[in-house]
Amino acid sequence: MKTKKNILVVDDDPNLRKTLADILRVKGYETVVAGTGAEAIAAAQREVFGLALIDLMLPDMSGLEVMAHIKTLAPLTEAIILTGHASMDSAIKATGQGAFAYLLKPYQMDELLQKIGHAVERKQAREEILRLASFPRLLPSPVIELDAAGQVTYLNPAAERLFPELSAHGQSHPLLRDLGPLLATLWQGQQPGETAREVKVGEATYELRISYVPEVDLVRIYVLDITQRKQAEEEIYLLATTDGLTGIANRRQFATIMAREVERAKRYGIPMSVVMYDIDYFKRVNDSFGHDVGDVVLQALTGLVKENIRANDVPARWGGEEFMLFMPQSNLEAARDAAEKLRLAIAAHQFHKCGQLTVSFGVATLEPQDDLNSLLKRVDDALYQAKALGRNRVEVLTGEMTSK
Ligand code: GH3
Ligand code: MG
Ligand code: MG
Repeated sequence: MKTKKNILVVDDDPNLRKTLADILRVKGYETVVAGTGAEAIAAAQREVFGLALIDLMLPDMSGLEVMAHIKTLAPLTEAIILTGHASMDSAIKATGQGAFAYLLKPYQMDELLQKIGHAVERKQAREEILRLASFPRLLPSPVIELDAAGQVTYLNPAAERLFPELSAHGQSHPLLRDLGPLLATLWQGQQPGETAREVKVGEATYELRISYVPEVDLVRIYVLDITQRKQAEEEIYLLATTDGLTGIANRRQFATIMAREVERAKRYGIPMSVVMYDIDYFKRVNDSFGHDVGDVVLQALTGLVKENIRANDVPARWGGEEFMLFMPQSNLEAARDAAEKLRLAIAAHQFHKCGQLTVSFGVATLEPQDDLNSLLKRVDDALYQAKALGRNRVEVLTGEMTSK
């Protein structure tokens, strides 16, 4: 919002106020004129003026009374009192009561214009200060200010609510306890800009954004509740990377992990294998017991697999009832043995309502000529073979076998 350059001219001499108003208009100010105190107050009730030029002697009241009324209506309105020599004392009194200046009639127009310019500037500065002061107060997160002695000089309402003991404890409060050295460097002007610090208070973790604010000669600390923030970030990450039904990695996340791990394994020559598995005749489960029972089977199968793999193995849901297992640092034999162990564990399990089920497995290991696509293609082919050869079995495929 721009400071309005509108001026209220209050004088009972019609010629004087007209001349003044005309000159001010030429200088770019909007003016409203009033001949009595009552008219002036009525005008101030209708609009907020940047400045009021007020004759001290008015027919119905003194210019000081008019000024007091206007300042009650609009505290930031500046006032300049115009007066004759006879009333010097009152004029001086006016500045004590909040007038920006007084001017003796007959006044020099240059001097008046200069005073008007300064009054408008002062109003702008006061508005700016109020705006700055209200900024931390209105923030929903805590703001704390400290002086050079380390005393807490200001807490916004959010800070008072969240840290009620902060005023009493000052720098010994857990939130500020370790800031001593940093505050010292800030006061010595050695650390410009903003410094971020993580602080734990009880269960909560906060990020402090700490900076020296030269305008007010204070250190200001913005407090961000990153527990809350981290929780929200984690939720979003989980939604994007995991399968909603089984809680394991989704297809996209698995592809991301695999791309990274294939690169790494190739660069350092480390073995890695991948297993793809698919429930046998799963359609029958759905058809006989319903989709909900099918869902429970998918969850139970995932649980069973997780119980039977190593901590570093990564299971993922690749699609419908098709799953993947990434086995870092495992060669083909180790991966085949692990798949065989899984096959047996699943075949021995009693699933809710539908009893026994079997699963077919394909296994492939990363070979020198492979990239991610060729590896995934081979493990898919291996699974297809396991299905074709009668299901409930583990099939292994190497590059050499496929090229034949
Ligand atoms: P195969 O031994 O050849 O794998 O036979 P299948 O019946 O398992 O294979 P098919 O591809 O014919 O059927 C897969 C079934 O899996 C069909 C589909 O309805 C079911 N399915 C896929 N995703 C889900 C799911 O999220 N929940 C449930 N309950 N069923 C699913
Ligand atoms: Mg199937
Ligand atoms: Mg399938």
